[in-house]
Formats: sequence, structure tokens, C-alpha cells
Amino acid sequence: TAKRAGGNRLEIFNDQMRVAVQQRIVAESRLRQALDGDRFATLPVWFQPIVSPATGLIVGAEALVRMWTTEGELLAPGHFITTAEETGLVVPLGEHVLETALRHLTEWRHELGYVSVNVSPRQLSEPDFVPMLARLLAGSTLVDPSRLVLEITETALLSTSVDLKQRLDAIKALGVRLALDDFGTGYSSLTWLQSVPADIVKLDRSFVAGLADDPRKASIISAVLWLARSLNMSVVAEGVEDLADWEALRQADCPAIQGYFFSRPVTAGDFQEMLAKTRRVSLEVG
Ligand code: C2E
Ligand code: MG
Ligand code: MG
Ligand code: MG
Repeated sequence: TAKRAGGNRLEIFNDQMRVAVQQRIVAESRLRQALDGDRFATLPVWFQPIVSPATGLIVGAEALVRMWTTEGELLAPGHFITTAEETGLVVPLGEHVLETALRHLTEWRHELGYVSVNVSPRQLSEPDFVPMLARLLAGSTLVDPSRLVLEITETALLSTSVDLKQRLDAIKALGVRLALDDFGTGYSSLTWLQSVPADIVKLDRSFVAGLADDPRKASIISAVLWLARSLNMSVVAEGVEDLADWEALRQADCPAIQGYFFSRPVTAGDFQEMLAKTRRVSLEVG
């Protein structure tokens, strides 16, 4: 080991790191297998509704990828997105998610306002990203590209080396909308708010969960709502887990919420059913 070889030197490669490296190798080989297989089956895209607290109607959905392992285990992105980023496999993976999300959006266009897709820094810095997006849009029968939203995070913005402003402008020129994901968790949220041509702010769930019992969270949320409104941006509050928070956000006139309280992410089939059901209820209520 490092300690034996180097005498007093610090052991830099410990058990914890060994396990982490092994996990990364496993994650990478699983990801390669999934991408080599029938992607629609091995990398299903799930959907979580985004809802208006004023009406209880579904206005949009966030597309969230999942992965089936050959051992029959369904993995959440926390198990493979970092590896996908590091290996560049997030590029084909991301294209698959975009294609799938667009296909469903086209299918649901009469019931659903928009679909939101996460885009990672590695994808954004690909020279082919904007041309790829344009190809996908041209190849779909979706008439209005503003019904596609791309979610970017502050960390994504920080770590891209390409001329970010120009790339985001090129995305906007296609008519696609942009959302700032996990808003408020980074170091320079206000800078991004000023410089990124975003249409939607997704307020991170650390400000949202438990806001009904926490006056500080409530104040931060009203301030962000006010700020977003004056910048002509919409707001989605993430991580709404109970009725009290939903009610507080409704009273604060928050345009949209997303969270386990309304629904967890579900398969495309279940999402379609949910769309039909909530629509039926709203027609019955009037
Ligand atoms: P995110 O974009 O912030 O997505 C929201 C995450 O919060 C989802 O986790 C969702 O299931 C979870 N969530 C939603 N409502 C609640 C709630 O009320 N309480 C709690 N505790 N959690 C809630 P998920 O699906 O595991 O995704 C995790 C992250 O993985 C995403 O965070 C996103 O950063 C990334 N990701 C997911 N799909 C993709 C993708 O297709 N491409 C890329 N590049 N990243 C993705
Ligand atoms: Mg997101
Ligand atoms: Mg988020
Ligand atoms: Mg998040």
C-alpha cells in the first residue's frame, strides 16, 4: 500500500476511494450496456407533473431518466449521471432523453403545456449540441419549440468552457425556453439571473420543503417570486411534499409547483393516465 511504500507518507488511496473507483467502473459498464441495448427499454424516461397550485391542473412535466441494469434493477440518475458526465456518455444519453421527451410531448400536446429536460454541462459544451437540438426539432411534428424547456444548473454554467452566452442565445434562437434548475443553491444566483436569458426559475427544494412552518423560507420565496415577476420569468417551486407547503405557495401566488405531494415521477404510461384523469376532474368541476 501507499503507506508501506512511502514510509511516513499519507495513505492517499484508501478503502473508501477503492470502493468509489469500483462503483464508477461498474456504473460505466452498466451505462455502456444500456446505451448499446434498446434504449427506449433500458433507459426509460419518467415524467413528474408540474402543477398550477391555483387550479390543480398539470401545466408541464419534467423528464427524468432511469436505467434498468441487466440484473433487473431500476436505477435513479444519482447512480449514473456523474459517471455519464465524466465519461462523455451523457452526450448519447442526453440525446436519447431529448428525443424521447419530444416524442411524448408531441403525443400529449393537447393536454400538456411543456416538457422540461435536464441538460448537463458536458452536453452543453458539445459543439454539436445546438445543431442536434435543431435536427430533433425539425424531425418532430411539434409546431411550437417553446413547449420544450431545457433545465440548466448554476454548476453547469460555471463549468462550461465554451462561450456560454452565445450557446444559450443559439438555443433561444430556436425558440426553446430555458430554466435555471436548483435555483438558489449556487454561489452566484443573482449573477445568473442577470446574465442568463432564462424564462423559468426552478426554486430549489431546500427553500421549499417545510416553508409553511418557516417564516425565513417563506420570505425568501416571496422575494424570489417578486424578483422573477419583475424580470418576466416564471417560477416552479421544487420539492413540495405536503399540503401545508402547497397551500402556502398557492397563497403566495407561486405560478407552478413540483413535488411528491402531487406526484412522484412516473412512467410515460402512468403519466398519460394522470393527464387524462386530472383533465376529467377539471371538466367535471367546471
Ligand atoms: P433535478 O433536475 O433537480 O430533478 C428533481 C429531482 O428531485 C428528481 O430526482 C425528483 O424525483 C426529485 N423530487 C421531485 N419532487 C421531490 C420531492 O417532493 N421531494 C424530494 N425529496 N425529491 C423530489 P431524480 O429523478 O432522482 O433526479 C435527480 C437528478 O438527476 C435531477 O435533479 C437531475 O439533475 C439529474 N437528471 C435526471 N434526469 C436527467 C437527464 O435526463 N439528464 C441529465 N443530464 N440529468 C438528469
Ligand atoms: Mg431538473
Ligand atoms: Mg431541480
Ligand atoms: Mg436537484
